[in-house]
Amino acid sequence: LVVGDFKTFKEDVIAAFDSVRKDGSGEITTYIPGLSTYDTNKWSVSFCSVDGQVVALGDYKDTFTLQSVTKPILYGIMCDAVGTDTVHRYVGKEPSGFGFNKIVLGYGDVPHNPLINIGAITVASLVLPDESISDRFEFCYSKYKDLACNMSPGGISFNNVVYLSEKHNGHRNYAIGHYLLNKGCIDASSTGRLMEILELYFQLCSIEVDTRTVAAMGATLANGGKNVFTGEEVLSKNTVQNMLSLMYSCGMYDYSGEWSFEIGLPAKSGVSGVIMVILPNLGSLAMWSPPLDHYGNSVRGLGFTRNLLSRFKNDTAHQS
Ligand code: GLN
Repeated sequence: LVVGDFKTFKEDVIAAFDSVRKDGSGEITTYIPGLSTYDTNKWSVSFCSVDGQVVALGDYKDTFTLQSVTKPILYGIMCDAVGTDTVHRYVGKEPSGFGFNKIVLGYGDVPHNPLINIGAITVASLVLPDESISDRFEFCYSKYKDLACNMSPGGISFNNVVYLSEKHNGHRNYAIGHYLLNKGCIDASSTGRLMEILELYFQLCSIEVDTRTVAAMGATLANGGKNVFTGEEVLSKNTVQNMLSLMYSCGMYDYSGEWSFEIGLPAKSGVSGVIMVILPNLGSLAMWSPPLDHYGNSVRGLGFTRNLLSRFKNDTAHQS
């Protein structure tokens, strides 16, 4: 077993979970109206190891949308589909130092990295350009399902309310799309094609999950791309390595440097209040609590991770 003393590990996770339960600080996302109705008290953590040991705490039956956690997954899918070099002709590997929705390009007039809006929209433009919009969504969605392997009864689905809300209110993303078109960063000969790219991006942000599903997806990444329940290789090892590198350097918005310094693990957060943390070769932690800090990261999620880590620092008793 990867986590030998699972009982003690679970107790630590529960203690860290309880330590932040009462911290209701932070603000809920309002710029996407479909996300603004969440209860601030919602709090859930799930863990899934690479050999399928699972912990699910709090509101683990509640569902929410992936939002920015979709970005490394879309990036990985496209690296395997068209090749890493091709993807990186369109998007860089550098932290941007700006907020996730900043309208700015990096050196060579390409988006800094695929984990910010401008980069993810660019990657979305590479998805099966000659196929129908339904084929493009299905091509991606089937991979998301394979990553998660429907571990939980809630599994994985699509939130049409959030999708429509993003589509109706995502003015910043429309501006980003037009900027990309203007700079020749995406191959879109018409505004209609640009709208299709943005719609795919909104759809992939609107995939609905619970923390068990996110933990299962993360465990597949921790396992080098092989689904921990089915053994199926969903993403190649090389691609997963690249995904984790970018999550390590760019996954937590403009708190990414602090995060890698303090926590030192690949992670990705989303404005719904989700954080997926990868423990390579061990498993994945998924957290969800809607109130966000100044950077857009879940307050309880950050507090939990710090607390859990402090229990393992300089502690050999946990090692099996
Ligand atoms: N769908 C959101 C947006 O494009 C995703 C942002 C996020 O989670 N940071 O604005």
